[in-house]
Amino acid sequence: MKLLEERIRKDGVIKPGNVLKVDSFLNHQMDVTLFNEMGKEFVRLFQHKKINKILTIEASGIGIACICAQHFQVPVVFAKKTQSINLDGEMLTTKIESFTHKRTYDVIVSRKFLTTEDHVLIIDDFLANGCAVDGLIDLVKSAGATVEGVGIAIEKGFQSGGKLIRDKGVQVESLAIIDFMDAENEILEFRKQEI
Ligand code: 5GP
Repeated sequence: MKLLEERIRKDGVIKPGNVLKVDSFLNHQMDVTLFNEMGKEFVRLFQHKKINKILTIEASGIGIACICAQHFQVPVVFAKKTQSINLDGEMLTTKIESFTHKRTYDVIVSRKFLTTEDHVLIIDDFLANGCAVDGLIDLVKSAGATVEGVGIAIEKGFQSGGKLIRDKGVQVESLAIIDFMDAENEILEFRKQEI
């Protein structure tokens, strides 16, 4: 998506360790006008799918997921990261290793909010090694719900997550795919896409 790529070029900061900082518009300060365009694009990309729920993970997926959900006219559920599982009612749980924080979280969603009736679009800000999305897929499956697709703002195409999830037969749509990133020389290369 050209608009997002241009914004990444303008305001993204490449950090050592293959981390792209986009906190001025995506995951700390949030440009909701941009999110709105991203929401429209996800609706177009998943128009053939019957989606009745969006699932994301706290914290940085929530903003994008909420604006997207307005376009799909469906509710958003966010998976919570927790240190200890406090069993208040029936919870679905999985473990997710955080790429940015290098630690493992228990992640929970209340059974009430993911059911066998649900057709779920998973939304997140980044796809890197795929742990976050894989964990969310796990939660959807353990609920007996259906994963209809995965919508990502920025995929780091040089990491393994995209292949991991697509190899499961899941439709993954990333609005910007970075194929190469070099902090020292400030080089950023996007994959050519139709969107
Ligand atoms: P994965 O689980 O695919 O390895 O990583 C995805 C999660 O890690 C996302 O939810 C995102 O919050 C975080 N993440 C991964 N790579 C980056 C990055 O380059 N920059 C930022 N800001 N977050 C990232």
